[in-house]
Amino acid sequence: MKRETMLARARHRTEPWDIVVIGGGATGMGVAVDAAARGFSVVLLEAHDFGKATSSRSTKLVHGGVRYLEQGNIPLVMSALKERGLMRQNAPHLVHDLAFVVPNYSWWEAPFYGIGLKLYDMLAGKYGFGASKLLSKEETLERLPALEPEELRGGVVYYDGQFDDARLLIHLAMTAADHGAVLANYCPVTSLLRDPDGYVNGVTALDRESGEELALTARIVINATGVFTDSIRQMAEPAVEPLMVTSQGIHLVFERSFLKGDTALMVPKTSDGRVLFVIPWHGHAVAGTTDTPVDLPTLEPRPYQEEIEFILDTAARFFVRPPTRADVLAVYVGLRPLVKGDGKTSALSRDHIIHIDTSGLLTITGGKWTTYRHMAEDCVNHAITLGKLPDIDCPTKNLRIHGYLEDAASLGSLEVYGSDAEKIRALAANSPSLAVQLHPALPNIAAEVVWAAREEMARTVEDVLARHTRALFLNANAAIAMADPVAKLLAAELGRDQAWIAAQVREFTDLAQQYRVGP
Ligand SMILES: Cc1cc2nc3c(=O)[nH]c(=O)nc-3n(C[C@H](O)[C@H](O)[C@H](O)COP(=O)(O)OP(=O)(O)OC[C@H]3O[C@@H](n4cnc5c(N)ncnc54)[C@H](O)[C@@H]3O)c2cc1C
Repeated sequence: MKRETMLARARHRTEPWDIVVIGGGATGMGVAVDAAARGFSVVLLEAHDFGKATSSRSTKLVHGGVRYLEQGNIPLVMSALKERGLMRQNAPHLVHDLAFVVPNYSWWEAPFYGIGLKLYDMLAGKYGFGASKLLSKEETLERLPALEPEELRGGVVYYDGQFDDARLLIHLAMTAADHGAVLANYCPVTSLLRDPDGYVNGVTALDRESGEELALTARIVINATGVFTDSIRQMAEPAVEPLMVTSQGIHLVFERSFLKGDTALMVPKTSDGRVLFVIPWHGHAVAGTTDTPVDLPTLEPRPYQEEIEFILDTAARFFVRPPTRADVLAVYVGLRPLVKGDGKTSALSRDHIIHIDTSGLLTITGGKWTTYRHMAEDCVNHAITLGKLPDIDCPTKNLRIHGYLEDAASLGSLEVYGSDAEKIRALAANSPSLAVQLHPALPNIAAEVVWAAREEMARTVEDVLARHTRALFLNANAAIAMADPVAKLLAAELGRDQAWIAAQVREFTDLAQQYRVGP
Protein backbone atom coordinates (compact mmCIF):
# COMPACT_ATOMS: atom_id res chain seq x y z
CA MET A 1 0.00 0.00 0.00
CA LYS A 2 1.39 3.39 -1.00
CA ARG A 3 -0.29 6.50 0.30
CA GLU A 4 0.62 8.63 -2.72
CA THR A 5 -0.85 6.06 -5.11
CA MET A 6 -4.00 5.75 -3.02
CA LEU A 7 -4.53 9.51 -2.95
CA ALA A 8 -3.84 9.84 -6.67
CA ARG A 9 -6.53 7.22 -7.37
CA ALA A 10 -8.98 9.04 -5.10
CA ARG A 11 -8.20 12.37 -6.74
CA HIS A 12 -8.42 11.24 -10.35
CA ARG A 13 -11.62 9.25 -10.30
CA THR A 14 -14.35 11.15 -12.12
CA GLU A 15 -17.32 8.77 -11.72
CA PRO A 16 -18.99 8.38 -8.33
CA TRP A 17 -17.66 5.60 -6.09
CA ASP A 18 -20.07 2.82 -5.22
CA ILE A 19 -19.22 3.23 -1.54
CA VAL A 20 -17.34 5.76 0.57
CA VAL A 21 -16.49 4.51 4.06
CA ILE A 22 -15.73 7.01 6.82
CA GLY A 23 -13.54 5.53 9.59
CA GLY A 24 -10.61 3.11 9.44
CA GLY A 25 -11.20 1.01 12.56
CA ALA A 26 -12.33 -2.64 12.61
CA THR A 27 -15.84 -1.72 11.51
CA GLY A 28 -14.96 0.50 8.56
CA MET A 29 -12.07 -1.69 7.42
CA GLY A 30 -14.31 -4.76 7.57
CA VAL A 31 -16.80 -2.93 5.33
CA ALA A 32 -14.03 -1.94 2.90
CA VAL A 33 -12.85 -5.58 2.67
CA ASP A 34 -16.38 -6.85 2.13
CA ALA A 35 -17.31 -4.22 -0.45
CA ALA A 36 -14.05 -4.56 -2.38
CA ALA A 37 -14.23 -8.37 -2.33
CA ARG A 38 -17.75 -8.16 -3.81
CA GLY A 39 -16.27 -6.07 -6.62
CA PHE A 40 -17.64 -2.64 -5.65
CA SER A 41 -15.54 0.48 -6.03
CA VAL A 42 -14.78 1.62 -2.50
CA VAL A 43 -12.74 4.33 -0.87
CA LEU A 44 -12.11 4.47 2.89
CA LEU A 45 -11.08 7.68 4.65
CA GLU A 46 -9.48 7.65 8.09
CA ALA A 47 -8.82 10.84 10.03
CA HIS A 48 -5.62 9.51 11.66
CA ASP A 49 -3.68 6.25 11.34
CA PHE A 50 -5.76 3.13 10.65
CA GLY A 51 -6.78 1.70 14.03
CA LYS A 52 -5.71 4.78 16.00
CA ALA A 53 -8.89 4.77 18.10
CA THR A 54 -10.66 1.84 19.81
CA SER A 55 -9.57 -0.89 17.42
CA SER A 56 -5.96 -0.99 18.67
CA ARG A 57 -6.96 -0.81 22.35
CA SER A 58 -9.02 -3.94 22.95
CA THR A 59 -8.39 -6.84 25.35
CA LYS A 60 -7.19 -8.78 22.26
CA LEU A 61 -9.77 -11.53 22.64
CA VAL A 62 -11.60 -13.23 19.82
CA HIS A 63 -14.50 -14.47 21.86
CA GLY A 64 -18.18 -15.20 22.18
CA GLY A 65 -18.27 -13.31 25.47
CA VAL A 66 -18.76 -15.60 28.47
CA ARG A 67 -20.26 -12.61 30.27
CA TYR A 68 -23.09 -12.22 27.74
CA LEU A 69 -24.11 -15.81 28.49
CA GLU A 70 -24.89 -14.73 32.02
CA GLN A 71 -27.00 -11.89 30.59
CA GLY A 72 -28.91 -14.52 28.60
CA ASN A 73 -27.93 -13.10 25.19
CA ILE A 74 -27.56 -16.52 23.54
CA PRO A 75 -27.91 -15.37 19.88
CA LEU A 76 -25.12 -12.78 20.37
CA VAL A 77 -22.82 -15.38 21.94
CA MET A 78 -23.55 -17.95 19.25
CA SER A 79 -22.97 -15.59 16.39
CA ALA A 80 -19.73 -14.29 17.96
CA LEU A 81 -18.50 -17.87 18.52
CA LYS A 82 -19.07 -18.63 14.85
CA GLU A 83 -17.18 -15.47 13.87
CA ARG A 84 -14.38 -16.52 16.25
CA GLY A 85 -14.04 -19.75 14.25
CA LEU A 86 -14.06 -17.92 10.92
CA MET A 87 -11.43 -15.45 12.10
CA ARG A 88 -9.08 -18.26 13.06
CA GLN A 89 -9.79 -20.02 9.77
CA ASN A 90 -9.10 -16.91 7.65
CA ALA A 91 -6.19 -15.39 9.62
CA PRO A 92 -4.41 -18.33 11.31
CA HIS A 93 -1.20 -16.28 11.56
CA LEU A 94 -2.97 -13.81 13.85
CA VAL A 95 -5.72 -15.64 15.71
CA HIS A 96 -4.79 -18.35 18.22
CA ASP A 97 -6.50 -20.57 20.72
CA LEU A 98 -5.83 -19.58 24.27
CA ALA A 99 -6.62 -21.57 27.43
CA PHE A 100 -8.34 -19.59 30.20
CA VAL A 101 -8.65 -20.76 33.78
CA VAL A 102 -11.41 -19.58 36.10
CA PRO A 103 -10.00 -20.31 39.57
CA ASN A 104 -12.50 -21.45 42.21
CA TYR A 105 -12.14 -20.27 45.78
CA SER A 106 -15.73 -21.17 46.89
CA TRP A 107 -17.47 -24.57 46.79
CA TRP A 108 -20.23 -23.38 44.43
CA GLU A 109 -17.98 -21.92 41.74
CA ALA A 110 -16.83 -25.18 40.12
CA PRO A 111 -20.33 -26.50 39.28
CA PHE A 112 -21.63 -23.00 38.44
CA TYR A 113 -18.87 -22.02 36.00
CA GLY A 114 -18.38 -25.62 34.88
CA ILE A 115 -21.96 -25.81 33.59
CA GLY A 116 -21.86 -22.29 32.10
CA LEU A 117 -18.70 -23.07 30.17
CA LYS A 118 -20.10 -26.38 28.90
CA LEU A 119 -22.95 -24.34 27.42
CA TYR A 120 -20.34 -22.01 25.89
CA ASP A 121 -18.64 -25.05 24.27
CA MET A 122 -21.98 -26.30 23.02
CA LEU A 123 -22.96 -22.98 21.44
CA ALA A 124 -19.73 -22.93 19.45
CA GLY A 125 -20.82 -26.20 17.77
CA LYS A 126 -18.52 -27.04 14.87
CA TYR A 127 -16.58 -23.81 15.46
CA GLY A 128 -15.40 -25.04 18.90
CA PHE A 129 -11.87 -24.29 20.13
CA GLY A 130 -11.54 -27.08 22.72
CA ALA A 131 -13.62 -28.64 25.48
CA SER A 132 -13.82 -26.96 28.88
CA LYS A 133 -13.06 -29.11 31.90
CA LEU A 134 -12.97 -29.00 35.70
CA LEU A 135 -9.48 -28.90 37.23
CA SER A 136 -8.21 -30.02 40.60
CA LYS A 137 -6.28 -27.57 42.75
CA GLU A 138 -2.98 -29.09 41.55
CA GLU A 139 -4.00 -28.94 37.89
CA THR A 140 -5.08 -25.32 38.32
CA LEU A 141 -1.71 -24.37 39.84
CA GLU A 142 0.11 -26.29 37.15
CA ARG A 143 -1.55 -24.08 34.53
CA LEU A 144 -1.32 -20.87 36.56
CA PRO A 145 1.71 -21.25 38.84
CA ALA A 146 1.52 -17.60 39.92
CA LEU A 147 -1.96 -18.04 41.42
CA GLU A 148 -2.58 -17.59 45.15
CA PRO A 149 -2.89 -21.20 46.45
CA GLU A 150 -4.48 -20.41 49.82
CA GLU A 151 -8.15 -21.45 49.89
CA LEU A 152 -7.95 -22.40 46.20
CA ARG A 153 -10.28 -25.36 45.56
CA GLY A 154 -9.68 -25.93 41.85
CA GLY A 155 -10.69 -24.31 38.59
CA VAL A 156 -12.33 -24.62 35.19
CA VAL A 157 -10.34 -24.41 31.97
CA TYR A 158 -12.01 -23.23 28.75
CA TYR A 159 -10.76 -22.02 25.36
CA ASP A 160 -11.19 -18.79 23.43
CA GLY A 161 -9.23 -16.89 20.80
CA GLN A 162 -6.58 -14.21 21.01
CA PHE A 163 -5.12 -11.85 18.42
CA ASP A 164 -3.17 -8.67 17.79
CA ASP A 165 -5.89 -6.12 17.03
CA ALA A 166 -3.81 -3.42 15.31
CA ARG A 167 -1.97 -6.00 13.21
CA LEU A 168 -5.22 -7.62 12.07
CA LEU A 169 -6.47 -4.16 11.16
CA ILE A 170 -3.38 -3.49 9.02
CA HIS A 171 -3.80 -6.87 7.34
CA LEU A 172 -7.49 -6.11 6.70
CA ALA A 173 -6.40 -2.85 5.07
CA MET A 174 -3.97 -4.80 2.90
CA THR A 175 -6.72 -7.33 2.08
CA ALA A 176 -9.03 -4.51 1.00
CA ALA A 177 -6.20 -2.99 -1.05
CA ASP A 178 -5.44 -6.40 -2.60
CA HIS A 179 -9.08 -6.37 -3.81
CA GLY A 180 -8.83 -2.88 -5.27
CA ALA A 181 -10.05 -0.65 -2.44
CA VAL A 182 -8.56 2.83 -2.05
CA LEU A 183 -7.61 3.61 1.55
CA ALA A 184 -6.36 6.95 2.79
CA ASN A 185 -5.08 7.63 6.29
CA TYR A 186 -4.68 11.13 7.75
CA CYS A 187 -7.68 12.23 5.67
CA PRO A 188 -10.54 13.33 7.97
CA VAL A 189 -13.94 13.76 6.39
CA THR A 190 -14.83 17.41 6.88
CA SER A 191 -18.33 17.60 5.40
CA LEU A 192 -20.97 15.61 3.57
CA LEU A 193 -22.06 16.39 0.02
CA ARG A 194 -25.74 16.28 -1.01
CA ASP A 195 -27.61 15.75 -4.25
CA PRO A 196 -30.33 18.19 -5.41
CA ASP A 197 -32.91 16.23 -3.37
CA GLY A 198 -30.87 16.67 -0.20
CA TYR A 199 -29.59 13.09 0.05
CA VAL A 200 -25.99 12.50 1.10
CA ASN A 201 -24.03 11.58 -2.04
CA GLY A 202 -20.41 12.11 -1.07
CA VAL A 203 -17.90 13.70 1.26
CA THR A 204 -15.17 16.24 1.39
CA ALA A 205 -11.95 15.24 3.11
CA LEU A 206 -8.71 16.97 3.99
CA ASP A 207 -5.33 15.45 3.23
CA ARG A 208 -3.62 16.44 6.46
CA GLU A 209 -0.15 16.06 4.94
CA SER A 210 -0.57 18.31 1.88
CA GLY A 211 -3.53 20.43 3.00
CA GLU A 212 -5.39 19.48 -0.19
CA GLU A 213 -9.18 19.14 -0.06
CA LEU A 214 -10.73 16.13 -1.78
CA ALA A 215 -14.35 15.91 -2.93
CA LEU A 216 -15.60 12.36 -3.49
CA THR A 217 -19.07 11.49 -4.69
CA ALA A 218 -20.63 8.09 -4.04
CA ARG A 219 -23.81 6.10 -4.34
CA ILE A 220 -23.70 5.43 -0.65
CA VAL A 221 -21.77 6.91 2.26
CA ILE A 222 -21.13 4.67 5.26
CA ASN A 223 -20.37 6.13 8.65
CA ALA A 224 -18.19 3.70 10.64
CA THR A 225 -16.62 6.07 13.12
CA GLY A 226 -17.15 4.20 16.40
CA VAL A 227 -17.42 6.56 19.36
CA PHE A 228 -17.35 9.48 16.88
CA THR A 229 -20.49 8.24 15.08
CA ASP A 230 -22.72 11.12 16.16
CA SER A 231 -20.27 13.79 15.00
CA ILE A 232 -20.61 12.52 11.41
CA ARG A 233 -24.40 12.17 11.72
CA GLN A 234 -24.48 15.78 12.89
CA MET A 235 -22.73 16.84 9.68
CA ALA A 236 -25.86 15.59 7.89
CA GLU A 237 -28.41 16.80 10.44
CA PRO A 238 -27.10 19.06 13.19
CA ALA A 239 -30.08 18.44 15.49
CA VAL A 240 -30.02 14.67 15.21
CA GLU A 241 -30.69 12.63 18.39
CA PRO A 242 -27.39 11.02 19.56
CA LEU A 243 -27.14 7.24 19.18
CA MET A 244 -23.99 6.60 21.16
CA VAL A 245 -22.84 6.27 24.74
CA THR A 246 -19.16 5.92 25.51
CA SER A 247 -17.48 3.85 28.20
CA GLN A 248 -13.76 3.55 28.74
CA GLY A 249 -11.73 0.47 29.58
CA ILE A 250 -8.10 0.42 30.65
CA HIS A 251 -5.47 -2.31 30.56
CA LEU A 252 -2.23 -2.60 32.50
CA VAL A 253 0.76 -4.40 31.01
CA PHE A 254 3.30 -6.27 33.14
CA GLU A 255 6.27 -8.55 32.63
CA ARG A 256 5.19 -12.05 31.67
CA SER A 257 6.64 -13.42 34.96
CA PHE A 258 3.51 -12.15 36.75
CA LEU A 259 1.44 -14.75 34.98
CA LYS A 260 3.93 -17.52 34.20
CA GLY A 261 2.90 -20.27 31.79
CA ASP A 262 0.73 -19.93 28.68
CA THR A 263 -2.69 -19.89 30.30
CA ALA A 264 -4.82 -16.79 30.90
CA LEU A 265 -6.66 -16.00 34.11
CA MET A 266 -10.34 -15.11 33.94
CA VAL A 267 -12.09 -13.63 36.96
CA PRO A 268 -15.79 -13.80 36.13
CA LYS A 269 -16.96 -11.47 38.86
CA THR A 270 -14.79 -8.77 40.37
CA SER A 271 -15.81 -6.84 43.51
CA ASP A 272 -18.03 -4.59 41.37
CA GLY A 273 -19.47 -7.37 39.23
CA ARG A 274 -17.21 -7.07 36.16
CA VAL A 275 -15.01 -9.57 34.33
CA LEU A 276 -11.24 -9.27 34.60
CA PHE A 277 -8.70 -11.02 32.40
CA VAL A 278 -4.96 -11.41 32.82
CA ILE A 279 -3.64 -12.77 29.54
CA PRO A 280 -0.25 -13.59 28.05
CA TRP A 281 0.37 -11.36 25.02
CA HIS A 282 3.57 -10.74 23.02
CA GLY A 283 5.77 -11.95 25.88
CA HIS A 284 3.99 -9.82 28.48
CA ALA A 285 0.93 -10.08 30.74
CA VAL A 286 -2.05 -7.80 30.04
CA ALA A 287 -4.65 -7.20 32.78
CA GLY A 288 -8.00 -5.53 32.20
CA THR A 289 -10.47 -4.14 31.83
CA THR A 290 -12.64 -1.46 33.43
CA ASP A 291 -15.95 0.03 32.35
CA THR A 292 -16.20 3.71 33.22
CA PRO A 293 -18.77 6.03 31.59
CA VAL A 294 -17.21 8.91 29.67
CA ASP A 295 -18.96 12.12 28.57
CA LEU A 296 -17.02 13.08 25.47
CA PRO A 297 -15.04 10.78 23.17
CA THR A 298 -11.38 11.69 22.67
CA LEU A 299 -8.62 10.09 20.64
CA GLU A 300 -6.22 9.64 23.53
CA PRO A 301 -8.36 8.94 26.58
CA ARG A 302 -6.50 8.95 29.89
CA PRO A 303 -6.77 6.36 32.65
CA TYR A 304 -8.37 7.35 35.94
CA GLN A 305 -6.25 6.59 39.01
CA GLU A 306 -9.19 4.59 40.47
CA GLU A 307 -9.14 2.34 37.41
CA ILE A 308 -5.43 1.63 37.84
CA GLU A 309 -5.94 0.92 41.56
CA PHE A 310 -8.93 -1.30 40.82
CA ILE A 311 -6.96 -3.55 38.46
CA LEU A 312 -3.96 -3.69 40.80
CA ASP A 313 -6.17 -4.50 43.82
CA THR A 314 -8.10 -7.19 41.96
CA ALA A 315 -4.93 -8.77 40.57
CA ALA A 316 -3.37 -8.69 44.06
CA ARG A 317 -6.17 -10.94 45.34
CA PHE A 318 -5.28 -13.66 42.85
CA PHE A 319 -1.49 -13.61 42.61
CA VAL A 320 1.15 -14.74 45.10
CA ARG A 321 3.24 -11.73 44.09
CA PRO A 322 0.87 -8.76 43.94
CA PRO A 323 1.76 -6.35 41.13
CA THR A 324 2.38 -2.72 42.10
CA ARG A 325 2.37 0.55 40.18
CA ALA A 326 6.13 0.23 39.75
CA ASP A 327 5.58 -3.04 37.85
CA VAL A 328 3.29 -1.48 35.22
CA LEU A 329 5.19 -1.25 31.92
CA ALA A 330 2.32 0.43 30.09
CA VAL A 331 -1.30 1.46 30.50
CA TYR A 332 -3.61 1.84 27.51
CA VAL A 333 -7.15 3.11 27.34
CA GLY A 334 -9.92 2.40 24.85
CA LEU A 335 -13.43 3.77 24.38
CA ARG A 336 -16.34 1.40 23.71
CA PRO A 337 -18.85 2.52 21.10
CA LEU A 338 -22.06 1.48 22.82
CA VAL A 339 -25.51 1.96 21.40
CA LYS A 340 -27.63 4.13 23.65
CA GLY A 341 -29.95 2.66 26.28
CA ASP A 342 -30.70 3.09 29.95
CA GLY A 343 -28.72 2.06 32.98
CA LYS A 344 -25.09 1.12 33.48
CA THR A 345 -22.79 1.00 30.47
CA SER A 346 -21.86 -2.65 31.07
CA ALA A 347 -25.55 -3.54 30.62
CA LEU A 348 -25.86 -1.68 27.30
CA SER A 349 -26.29 -3.58 24.07
CA ARG A 350 -23.13 -5.18 22.68
CA ASP A 351 -24.96 -5.91 19.42
CA HIS A 352 -24.20 -3.81 16.39
CA ILE A 353 -26.79 -1.59 14.79
CA ILE A 354 -27.34 -0.32 11.27
CA HIS A 355 -29.00 3.07 11.27
CA ILE A 356 -30.19 5.07 8.28
CA ASP A 357 -30.73 8.80 8.76
CA THR A 358 -33.31 10.65 6.68
CA SER A 359 -30.41 12.11 4.72
CA GLY A 360 -29.56 8.59 3.49
CA LEU A 361 -26.35 8.41 5.56
CA LEU A 362 -25.83 4.76 6.52
CA THR A 363 -24.30 4.26 9.97
CA ILE A 364 -22.90 1.04 11.38
CA THR A 365 -21.74 0.94 14.98
CA GLY A 366 -21.61 -1.10 18.19
CA GLY A 367 -20.70 -4.79 18.10
CA LYS A 368 -17.16 -5.91 18.80
CA TRP A 369 -13.92 -6.77 17.06
CA THR A 370 -14.82 -10.46 16.95
CA THR A 371 -17.96 -9.74 14.93
CA TYR A 372 -16.43 -7.25 12.45
CA ARG A 373 -16.94 -9.58 9.45
CA HIS A 374 -20.59 -10.29 10.19
CA MET A 375 -21.18 -6.56 10.81
CA ALA A 376 -19.60 -5.72 7.46
CA GLU A 377 -21.73 -8.28 5.64
CA ASP A 378 -24.88 -6.86 7.19
CA CYS A 379 -23.80 -3.29 6.38
CA VAL A 380 -22.89 -3.94 2.74
CA ASN A 381 -26.19 -5.83 2.26
CA HIS A 382 -27.98 -2.67 3.42
CA ALA A 383 -25.76 -0.50 1.21
CA ILE A 384 -26.71 -2.63 -1.82
CA THR A 385 -30.40 -1.98 -1.23
CA LEU A 386 -30.07 1.68 -0.34
CA GLY A 387 -27.55 2.53 -3.06
CA LYS A 388 -29.29 0.38 -5.71
CA LEU A 389 -26.05 -1.55 -6.23
CA PRO A 390 -25.94 -4.94 -7.97
CA ASP A 391 -26.86 -7.86 -5.73
CA ILE A 392 -23.56 -9.64 -5.23
CA ASP A 393 -23.18 -12.29 -2.53
CA CYS A 394 -20.80 -11.73 0.35
CA PRO A 395 -17.61 -13.80 -0.12
CA THR A 396 -15.85 -13.07 3.19
CA LYS A 397 -16.76 -16.22 5.14
CA ASN A 398 -13.94 -18.01 3.37
CA LEU A 399 -11.82 -15.03 2.34
CA ARG A 400 -8.20 -15.34 3.45
CA ILE A 401 -6.82 -12.28 5.22
CA HIS A 402 -3.57 -10.76 3.91
CA GLY A 403 -0.59 -12.55 5.46
CA TYR A 404 -2.50 -15.85 5.72
CA LEU A 405 -0.09 -18.55 6.82
CA GLU A 406 -0.60 -21.77 8.73
CA ASP A 407 2.00 -22.69 11.36
CA ALA A 408 3.36 -19.14 11.49
CA ALA A 409 4.66 -19.76 15.04
CA SER A 410 8.02 -20.85 13.61
CA LEU A 411 8.55 -17.22 12.49
CA GLY A 412 9.21 -16.19 16.10
CA SER A 413 8.68 -12.49 16.74
CA LEU A 414 7.74 -11.96 13.07
CA GLU A 415 4.83 -14.42 13.38
CA VAL A 416 2.19 -11.67 13.22
CA TYR A 417 3.35 -10.71 9.72
CA GLY A 418 2.46 -14.17 8.43
CA SER A 419 3.49 -14.56 4.78
CA ASP A 420 5.04 -11.05 4.78
CA ALA A 421 7.63 -12.15 7.37
CA GLU A 422 9.96 -13.53 4.71
CA LYS A 423 10.01 -10.13 2.95
CA ILE A 424 10.97 -8.43 6.22
CA ARG A 425 13.66 -11.04 6.76
CA ALA A 426 14.95 -10.36 3.26
CA LEU A 427 15.21 -6.63 4.03
CA ALA A 428 17.27 -7.46 7.11
CA ALA A 429 19.41 -9.98 5.23
CA ASN A 430 20.21 -7.47 2.48
CA SER A 431 21.17 -4.70 4.83
CA PRO A 432 22.75 -5.62 8.18
CA SER A 433 21.76 -2.27 9.73
CA LEU A 434 18.11 -3.31 9.31
CA ALA A 435 18.67 -6.52 11.29
CA VAL A 436 19.42 -4.46 14.41
CA GLN A 437 17.06 -4.90 17.37
CA LEU A 438 15.70 -1.47 18.35
CA HIS A 439 15.57 -2.07 22.12
CA PRO A 440 16.78 -4.96 24.29
CA ALA A 441 13.36 -5.28 26.01
CA LEU A 442 11.43 -5.83 22.78
CA PRO A 443 12.17 -8.04 19.75
CA ASN A 444 11.40 -5.46 17.01
CA ILE A 445 14.07 -4.90 14.38
CA ALA A 446 14.77 -1.91 12.12
CA ALA A 447 13.51 -3.77 9.04
CA GLU A 448 9.98 -3.69 10.51
CA VAL A 449 10.06 0.12 10.45
CA VAL A 450 11.15 0.20 6.83
CA TRP A 451 8.48 -2.35 5.95
CA ALA A 452 5.80 -0.33 7.78
CA ALA A 453 6.76 2.82 5.85
CA ARG A 454 7.10 1.15 2.45
CA GLU A 455 4.18 -1.27 2.48
CA GLU A 456 1.78 -0.44 5.32
CA MET A 457 1.35 3.33 5.02
CA ALA A 458 2.95 4.17 8.40
CA ARG A 459 3.55 7.92 8.46
CA THR A 460 4.75 8.79 11.96
CA VAL A 461 6.82 7.45 14.84
CA GLU A 462 3.59 6.89 16.74
CA ASP A 463 2.13 4.80 13.89
CA VAL A 464 5.17 2.53 13.99
CA LEU A 465 5.52 2.24 17.77
CA ALA A 466 1.84 2.08 18.72
CA ARG A 467 0.29 -0.05 15.98
CA HIS A 468 2.67 -1.40 13.31
CA THR A 469 4.73 -2.70 16.21
CA ARG A 470 3.11 -2.75 19.66
CA ALA A 471 6.06 -1.24 21.54
CA LEU A 472 4.09 1.61 23.14
CA PHE A 473 1.41 -0.79 24.38
CA LEU A 474 3.94 -3.22 25.82
CA ASN A 475 6.58 -1.03 27.39
CA ALA A 476 6.22 2.77 27.29
CA ASN A 477 9.78 3.51 28.47
CA ALA A 478 11.28 1.20 25.87
CA ALA A 479 9.10 2.81 23.19
CA ILE A 480 10.35 6.27 24.18
CA ALA A 481 13.93 5.04 23.81
CA MET A 482 13.07 3.64 20.36
CA ALA A 483 11.60 6.93 19.08
CA ASP A 484 14.86 8.42 17.84
CA PRO A 485 16.07 5.46 15.72
CA VAL A 486 12.54 4.95 14.40
CA ALA A 487 12.24 8.63 13.42
CA LYS A 488 15.55 8.44 11.53
CA LEU A 489 14.54 5.26 9.69
CA LEU A 490 11.17 6.79 8.76
CA ALA A 491 12.73 10.07 7.67
CA ALA A 492 15.00 8.18 5.26
CA GLU A 493 12.00 6.33 3.81
CA LEU A 494 9.62 9.29 3.61
CA GLY A 495 12.15 11.95 2.62
CA ARG A 496 11.88 14.05 5.78
CA ASP A 497 14.48 16.39 7.31
CA GLN A 498 16.16 16.85 10.71
CA ALA A 499 13.44 19.22 11.95
CA TRP A 500 10.82 16.54 11.22
CA ILE A 501 12.85 13.95 13.14
CA ALA A 502 13.16 16.23 16.16
CA ALA A 503 9.44 17.11 16.10
CA GLN A 504 8.42 13.45 15.77
CA VAL A 505 10.59 12.38 18.71
CA ARG A 506 9.24 15.25 20.84
CA GLU A 507 5.59 14.57 19.98
CA PHE A 508 5.91 10.85 20.55
CA THR A 509 7.72 11.28 23.85
CA ASP A 510 4.96 13.62 25.08
CA LEU A 511 2.26 11.18 24.05
CA ALA A 512 4.02 8.17 25.57
CA GLN A 513 4.03 9.81 29.02
CA GLN A 514 0.31 8.99 29.14
CA TYR A 515 1.10 5.30 28.76
CA ARG A 516 3.44 5.29 31.77
CA VAL A 517 2.38 4.54 35.32
CA GLY A 518 5.51 3.40 37.09
CA PRO A 519 8.76 5.35 37.48
C1 LIG B 1 -11.41 -1.60 26.52
C2 LIG B 1 -11.98 -2.37 25.38
C3 LIG B 1 -11.74 -3.73 25.26
C4 LIG B 1 -12.28 -4.43 24.19
N1 LIG B 1 -11.95 -5.73 24.04
C5 LIG B 1 -12.46 -6.45 23.01
C6 LIG B 1 -12.07 -7.79 22.83
O1 LIG B 1 -11.24 -8.33 23.56
N2 LIG B 1 -12.62 -8.47 21.80
C7 LIG B 1 -13.54 -7.90 20.95
O2 LIG B 1 -14.04 -8.60 20.07
N3 LIG B 1 -13.88 -6.60 21.07
C8 LIG B 1 -13.36 -5.86 22.07
N4 LIG B 1 -13.66 -4.53 22.20
C9 LIG B 1 -14.55 -3.91 21.22
C10 LIG B 1 -13.82 -3.50 19.93
O3 LIG B 1 -12.53 -3.05 20.20
C11 LIG B 1 -14.64 -2.42 19.23
O4 LIG B 1 -15.97 -2.85 19.07
C12 LIG B 1 -14.08 -2.06 17.85
O5 LIG B 1 -12.70 -1.85 17.90
C13 LIG B 1 -14.78 -0.81 17.33
O6 LIG B 1 -14.26 -0.51 16.07
P1 LIG B 1 -14.80 0.73 15.25
O7 LIG B 1 -14.19 0.65 13.91
O8 LIG B 1 -16.29 0.77 15.31
O9 LIG B 1 -14.29 2.01 16.03
P2 LIG B 1 -12.84 2.68 16.01
O10 LIG B 1 -11.76 1.70 16.08
O11 LIG B 1 -12.86 3.72 17.08
O12 LIG B 1 -12.75 3.36 14.60
C14 LIG B 1 -13.43 4.53 14.25
C15 LIG B 1 -12.49 5.35 13.40
O13 LIG B 1 -13.19 6.46 12.84
C16 LIG B 1 -12.25 7.50 12.68
N5 LIG B 1 -12.90 8.78 12.46
C17 LIG B 1 -13.59 9.53 13.37
N6 LIG B 1 -14.02 10.67 12.78
C18 LIG B 1 -13.60 10.64 11.48
C19 LIG B 1 -13.72 11.54 10.37
N7 LIG B 1 -14.33 12.71 10.48
N8 LIG B 1 -13.15 11.18 9.20
C20 LIG B 1 -12.51 9.99 9.05
N9 LIG B 1 -12.35 9.12 10.09
C21 LIG B 1 -12.90 9.43 11.28
C22 LIG B 1 -11.44 7.43 13.98
O14 LIG B 1 -10.20 8.10 13.86
C23 LIG B 1 -11.32 5.95 14.19
O15 LIG B 1 -10.11 5.41 13.70
C24 LIG B 1 -13.11 -3.78 23.24
C25 LIG B 1 -13.34 -2.41 23.36
C26 LIG B 1 -12.77 -1.70 24.42
C27 LIG B 1 -12.99 -0.24 24.52
